[in-house]
Amino acid sequence: MSEEARPLPAVPYLKLPEDGDPYLEGQKCGSCGSIFLSERTTCSKCGARGGFEATRLADRGRLYVFSIVHRSFPGIEVPYISAIVDLDGGGTVKGNLIGVDPDPEKLQFGMPVEVVYKDALGRKDSEGNSYISYFFQPANG
Ligand SMILES: [Zn+2]
Repeated sequence: MSEEARPLPAVPYLKLPEDGDPYLEGQKCGSCGSIFLSERTTCSKCGARGGFEATRLADRGRLYVFSIVHRSFPGIEVPYISAIVDLDGGGTVKGNLIGVDPDPEKLQFGMPVEVVYKDALGRKDSEGNSYISYFFQPANG
């Protein structure tokens, strides 16, 4: 793969190491251990300033809440499942849940999910860059 063809992460907290598996990165408060996805200077949980440390987040978690989206932008296939997942070890991440029918009967709050990394629906930007995004899919146990 040439340097130009290398896909880019769709969001800043998705890391694509050159020689390793993709992962999500959070910022961990050195004072209370709360994890946030974006860089910040003050912890919204304990109020500590500074002292954040980048930390690799788990690839597994539990479905905290979901909603089935029936209307979206042109070109976006609906329905799909928008989910919020509590990752094992900390960090709460929003993303799309795939690999399961968008049917409330098939989804349960607290069900185990894993993070998977895929091409972001084949979309490219005006410079021809492709993007890798993350999704959730049901996991065993
Ligand atoms: Zn804190």
